[in-house]
Amino acid sequence: MAECVFCRIVAKQIPASVVHEDEHTLAFMDLGQVNPGHVLVAAKAHAENLYALDDTQAAAVFRAAAKVARAVRDAFSPEGLSVYQANGKAAGQTVFHFHLHLVPRHDNDGMNLTWPVKNPPRERLEEAAAKLRARLR
Ligand SMILES: [Zn+2]
Repeated sequence: MAECVFCRIVAKQIPASVVHEDEHTLAFMDLGQVNPGHVLVAAKAHAENLYALDDTQAAAVFRAAAKVARAVRDAFSPEGLSVYQANGKAAGQTVFHFHLHLVPRHDNDGMNLTWPVKNPPRERLEEAAAKLRARLR
């Protein structure tokens, strides 16, 4: 995908501050830096989102995320760390090449995610679980 900004970063056509690279992933500093140590972990091969990752990519991305997260913890000593990953415009995805954010967190750092729980009855949860199990067979 020649016009994809992350493909161009992977191809080294656009500079990035790389922190980790392996066969399937590239981790680099997010330009926006919500907090110091904010890193993106991207699949090297173009995949638009989580749905498009194959099993090898999915495993590699999370293996790299855990490894880089430990480095972020050791280097920046955040009080916490959020993993953020968006799929589709409605979810807030802005670069349509799979990546996840490792965001070091501190009390009152201004990053907020509203979590509007609906607490449906157990029967609704069972219906939803059955729907998903049918698609996971
Ligand atoms: Zn791409």
